[in-house]
Amino acid sequence: MTAPETVTVVDALTQDGATVRFVGGCVRDAVAGRPVGDIDIATPDPPETVVALLEAAGLRALPTGLAHGTVTALSGDRHYEITTLRIDLETDGRRAVVAFTDDWTADAARRDLTINAISADRDGRLHDPFDGIADLKAGRVRFVGAAEERIREDVLRLLRFFRFYAHYGVPPPDPDGLAACRALAPLVPNLSGERVQAELFKLLAADSAAEVMALIAEEGVLTHVLPEAVDVARLRGLIAVEAALAIDGRQIRRLAAVLTTSPAGIDDVAERLRLSGADRAYLHEVAAASDGFAPVAEERARRHWFYWHGAQLYRELLLLDAARQGGIWPGLTEQLAEAAAWSRPSFPLNGDDVLALGVVAGPEVGVLLRTIESWWVGEDFGPDRAACLARLLAEYRAGGGSVLHRPVNRGTT
Ligand code: ATP
Ligand code: MG
Repeated sequence: MTAPETVTVVDALTQDGATVRFVGGCVRDAVAGRPVGDIDIATPDPPETVVALLEAAGLRALPTGLAHGTVTALSGDRHYEITTLRIDLETDGRRAVVAFTDDWTADAARRDLTINAISADRDGRLHDPFDGIADLKAGRVRFVGAAEERIREDVLRLLRFFRFYAHYGVPPPDPDGLAACRALAPLVPNLSGERVQAELFKLLAADSAAEVMALIAEEGVLTHVLPEAVDVARLRGLIAVEAALAIDGRQIRRLAAVLTTSPAGIDDVAERLRLSGADRAYLHEVAAASDGFAPVAEERARRHWFYWHGAQLYRELLLLDAARQGGIWPGLTEQLAEAAAWSRPSFPLNGDDVLALGVVAGPEVGVLLRTIESWWVGEDFGPDRAACLARLLAEYRAGGGSVLHRPVNRGTT
């Protein structure tokens, strides 16, 4: 928050005498002594003024959400969300009609949690109208105002309650917040899939994701959010394995760990959460390959597995398998490293080599090629191109083909 790029933005925004403050996550994380991510700044100036001030200072201003009062400023390599102080006029549980204001406390009051309602002057002086600092220190995640009312205004706050509890909370969870979540959980399916996905993925990133998923299930909330998230024990196992091996906790892997469903169920989850194509494919691939998967003990057989199915997939399956089996076994680390370092050898033949024998283009080409490829893999990728060509020729002759009288249309007489 003291970086030169940030100072440039704050200087620009205060050129007209306005007082601006840091708000939201950056203040919360700075107070908590955690690394600060995106920097959000609030100002009493309306968005058109914000754009004019930024441009006057030679900064780029993107009108990312003018109706909601948000402008994105680009300074150096960083971007900043500049939001005009606002109050909610109308809410329907999904989106709000807002009005701009110059009242800092009113702006803080419309924020979701006390720990998210702290703001800071440019010189670091804190404004904390709802005792967010004390809550942060004590691990109390609680709503600003009456929990039920706040969730009815925007149902996403129900998921945010659990997301922030996962990252900042100390048990037990706030009873009022919990009761409101229990009561209003049936409203979650009205939310857009994108918003639910974002909160769910941020929750899954937490070290305590499994404990919080268990809490969400116990409270009867999970059936309204993600009923397919059955296997919390496996998620717990996965997070333990990732921690023990200092491996990044990919959110999609964690989602795969907790899901128990059919291929059609995966498509359903992907639709509902608006998952990316890559994430959907990951879930399908891992689910299909997990069935009957066991780590491959022999190194040579492992290389063959890597070749046919992918070393990346093997690595994911190993982690998910260890998650289920409950831990690290001797050799697991080595196998993970081996899979990460593996590069796929390239088969020295292609379809042209088969056609050159006179085989007519068609399925037979692929069959022959696959036969030689399987042999080559079985020989542990040793045979070079000449050896593969010789093998191809032998195979072709054994099948009744001849290279001396290249048949124009093999198979018909
Ligand atoms: P992070 O960026 O690390 O996920 P954050 O606190 O910055 O955390 P954002 O979603 O970026 O979270 O929102 C910024 C701030 O805007 C929050 O700290 C909170 O004050 C407010 N806010 C965001 N979403 C809501 C909401 N649904 N209801 C009320 N206030 C919200
Ligand atoms: Mg943020």
